[in-house]
Amino acid sequence: ATPLLSVQNLSVQFCLNSGQTLQALSEVSFTVNSGETLGIVGESGCGKSTLARSLLQLVSPAHGRIEWQGMPLPTGNTAALRDYRRAVQCIFQDPLDALDPRMTVGDCIQEPMSALRAEWGKAEIRTRVDELLRAVGLESAMRERYPHEFSGGQCQRIGIARALAVKPQLIVCDEPVSALDVSIRGQVVRLLADLQREHGLTLLFISHDLGVVRELCNRVLVLYLGRVVEIADTASLYATPQHPYTRLLLQAMPLPDPQQEKARLAQIEIGVGELPSPLNPPAGCAFHPRCPQAQAVCREQVPALRQVSDHRQVACHFTLAQA
Ligand code: SF4
Ligand code: MG
Repeated sequence: ATPLLSVQNLSVQFCLNSGQTLQALSEVSFTVNSGETLGIVGESGCGKSTLARSLLQLVSPAHGRIEWQGMPLPTGNTAALRDYRRAVQCIFQDPLDALDPRMTVGDCIQEPMSALRAEWGKAEIRTRVDELLRAVGLESAMRERYPHEFSGGQCQRIGIARALAVKPQLIVCDEPVSALDVSIRGQVVRLLADLQREHGLTLLFISHDLGVVRELCNRVLVLYLGRVVEIADTASLYATPQHPYTRLLLQAMPLPDPQQEKARLAQIEIGVGELPSPLNPPAGCAFHPRCPQAQAVCREQVPALRQVSDHRQVACHFTLAQA
């Protein structure tokens, strides 16, 4: 079957005022299948948000291709572009970014429907706002109030209602729970999981929280300094991470049990170093300065992303293909 979304060799660069070039994404390739939840993980600055923004056509790639249902992303002021804008919605880290403070909650949710669902009548849209508020666990009376009257968790629920409003197929979620209190995060993640199942949605879930990603995602893509280093199904990735960077990320994951957490901290490799600047990425495998397995070749040659088993791709010179 044709994937819902296909990204091929996507590279994005930004020219800074200083005259330097920031290579935000390099040769990124992956597909998203209809109905799945794909996690995108990596440290901040690794290109996660740039990837989200490329899919939303907020930045234009230096080269590479993005295909939606087998066709290049539409451009211009065309019907195809309106269809795409309806089909792909987003949820951001700070829900207030998506909500106009001068609009009531009802208007915030209604706005994308008026813009993108011209075929829906006023009464229909009004009913739908009530349904959406209830679907995200809020009361329909809240439609008359303003975003600032709500907590962070409630605002994110409103943001989710707004994203769902036009009946999208794909929702790009960029760190949707990172700004929320830990106590609220689980509720919002469960809400997303329930909505995903009920509406047959496809989710692209960007996060640096590997615990949340394990809970929600079917597959996971790991980014390091703008490159894909590993893609695998969630169970295999967490059980047997293959790329040295994925292993490092998983080692850095805190454990819920305090005794285990103490043991983990005692074992963690010291001196793995900081993320290098994306303005001046290391040659060869960009991970080599931090990699415990690095060899001479790693400083010279960029490892290609290779299929190592049915459900896994890894970009490391020393990962062997498995039967
Ligand atoms: Fe480490 Fe070399 Fe593999 Fe890069 S290619 S992850 S430096 S072993
Ligand atoms: Mg980001």
